[in-house]
Amino acid sequence: MSDPNSACVFCKIFRREIVADEVLRTDDALVFRDLNPKAPVHLLVVPRRHADNLGDFVAMAESREVGDLFALASRAGREFAPGGYRVVVNEGLDGGQTVHHLHLHVLGGRRMSWPPG
Ligand code: 5GP
Ligand code: ZN
Repeated sequence: MSDPNSACVFCKIFRREIVADEVLRTDDALVFRDLNPKAPVHLLVVPRRHADNLGDFVAMAESREVGDLFALASRAGREFAPGGYRVVVNEGLDGGQTVHHLHLHVLGGRRMSWPPG
């Protein structure tokens, strides 16, 4: 248990140690359905590489990796929510983050309200 990320739920999902409803996978990222969906389509876009949050990810990753993650979110949104979608990243306590491995929420399948709660 020397790897600090060995207990991370999204690292486990990436390694398929925890089952998730996967919809897309690349070498560097995974898209799966949220366990507790907040919209008819609620996907999570998760990089293979562990970073606690968006700020840590952009500090450690190549800009290509950041771009690839957004490209995958866009691909997932257009494919699974063709009527439109929203991409959300929560960071920290005020942001409402609960899982400390960077992920992009892709929400769709209904009309979103604004501002978010
Ligand atoms: P956050 O609140 O950190 O932005 O979002 C974490 C999301 O991960 C939540 O929407 C939550 O429902 C989802 N989640 C937490 N644990 C699991 C899990 O084991 N499997 C899946 N598919 N989603 C999870
Ligand atoms: Zn992780």
